[in-house]
Amino acid sequence: MRLSQLFGKTQRQPPAEAETASHRLLVQAGMVAQLAAGIYSYLPLAWKVLRKIEEIVRQEMDAAGAQEVHLPSLHPLEIWQASGRHQTMKDVLFHLQDKRGREFVLGPTHEEVITDLFRRYVRSYRDLPLMLYQIQTKYRDEPRPRAGLIRLREFIMKDLYSFDADWEGLDRSYTTMVHAYENVFRRCGVPAVAVLADAGAMGGKDTHEFMFLTEVGEDSCLFCQACGYAANAEVALFRKTPTHADEPPLPLEEVATPGVTTIPQLAQFLGIPTSRTCKAVFYMADGRPVLVAIRGDMEVNETKLKRALRALDIHYMSEEEVLRAGFVAGSASAVGLQGATIVADDLIPQERNLVAGANRPDYHLLNVNYGRDWEAQIVADIALAAHGHPCPQCGEPLQLKRGIELGQVFKLGTFYSEKMGATFLDRQGQMRPAIMGCYGIGIDRLLAAVVEANHDQDGIIWPRELAPYPVHLVAIAIDKEEIRQTSEELYCRLMAHGIEPLYDDREESPGVKLKDADLLGMPLRLTISPRTLQQGAVELKPRSSPQARHVPLEEAIKAVTEA
Ligand SMILES: [Zn+2]
Repeated sequence: MRLSQLFGKTQRQPPAEAETASHRLLVQAGMVAQLAAGIYSYLPLAWKVLRKIEEIVRQEMDAAGAQEVHLPSLHPLEIWQASGRHQTMKDVLFHLQDKRGREFVLGPTHEEVITDLFRRYVRSYRDLPLMLYQIQTKYRDEPRPRAGLIRLREFIMKDLYSFDADWEGLDRSYTTMVHAYENVFRRCGVPAVAVLADAGAMGGKDTHEFMFLTEVGEDSCLFCQACGYAANAEVALFRKTPTHADEPPLPLEEVATPGVTTIPQLAQFLGIPTSRTCKAVFYMADGRPVLVAIRGDMEVNETKLKRALRALDIHYMSEEEVLRAGFVAGSASAVGLQGATIVADDLIPQERNLVAGANRPDYHLLNVNYGRDWEAQIVADIALAAHGHPCPQCGEPLQLKRGIELGQVFKLGTFYSEKMGATFLDRQGQMRPAIMGCYGIGIDRLLAAVVEANHDQDGIIWPRELAPYPVHLVAIAIDKEEIRQTSEELYCRLMAHGIEPLYDDREESPGVKLKDADLLGMPLRLTISPRTLQQGAVELKPRSSPQARHVPLEEAIKAVTEA
């Protein structure tokens, strides 16, 4: 490919809005272009890489025994109503109508469509296990598209669905997919780790996410180096120990706390640690007021809270909602509270003699005890695990790291097959729902992660298996006839050996050419200049190393093949 003819131009200046290296470099290299928020065009070089990533994914899915299909993006609304996800995923669904007023959604994922396909074709246990997958464009109306290709509204995803006759079969399919995912990420040059995750709106229970750990990631994960516990912060557990469980309950006492409205102020005012306080946090859950009671030194985990409440939507109360609910902000507690759902973190009932709000301004209560002074409708673990909290398995301190989620594997069970009637006849002639799993990889996001994991300050360093071209051939001073002739010859010779280089045949300065070669990131650079030509040589330099060496022109092909 001649660079003079390549569609897309490198830019000297990085885009001002870029927050991540992948966003900056892919735009600067002229590989992707934004059309609208979270919607991108791929230019030739990036599209080549993307297809190579797809090919790796395809090879690994096929090797795992899966079959490729292609499902539509336009879904009749009815199949989403059948699963109930027109509600649980309503925030991200794109809706549209045809001319007859029939309603459709643009597919953000395909459990409904694949389950429908299954029920049309599968009758017997003899048809199982079955794994079907596709690589296809999906649509999610993300409220905050960000970081270039990392959070998109239109994106390419590999989604695979497994159907088994029993739960042991699902375990096998799940393990097979975990191994296939490890292969995909290794071959793409992206270190990814599996962490426990939240099943969210997808239904089912066991699920892991594959995380690429990076400071620019939007997910937080907790890791234990001692025992290997790894979990997304949304679901991470930690060992909670009451600090004063052995104290006898003391009499309730009201104290004046003028001007005190926060937990740190309260702890300071009374000269106690924040762990001796019971904090009240106000939420609206599906339109109902909720007061959450949690120890003052901990934070609420909204994913756990949402699950404990079985709510579709929760958010912090606005000032207006607080007034309407009659909560006394700064001095609220569950003691004597009417008209709200009360949720207590499961550590609270074990604690003794906590300090909590008195439900009137500038007063708090000493020696508040759960069971004696108040009770909650829901007691559950709703605390957010943080850096340094003890590991739930071994007690060693957890470490918090940020990551980008590249893929997720789910044990769905019978969530969809029961709702949608995807059944089969087992060996005994009994009708049973299929046991399902689903497995996704974000292809665009994986491309971004490849760049995040493989770059330096000058540009991208493509892993060999993904590089758009294996070699970047640079002709310095191409206006000189002998340089042009030698470069053209080498270009043709490489092509004849099945090695298609990206050939910089432009009449540009050496500085521009070498900068572009670093930015574009092909694994090997071959440079022909008046200086190398004097020695009858070409300079060979791997993109990943500062070391360049001269190779005799006639040995260039051999050197490239062996490099
Ligand atoms: Zn541990």
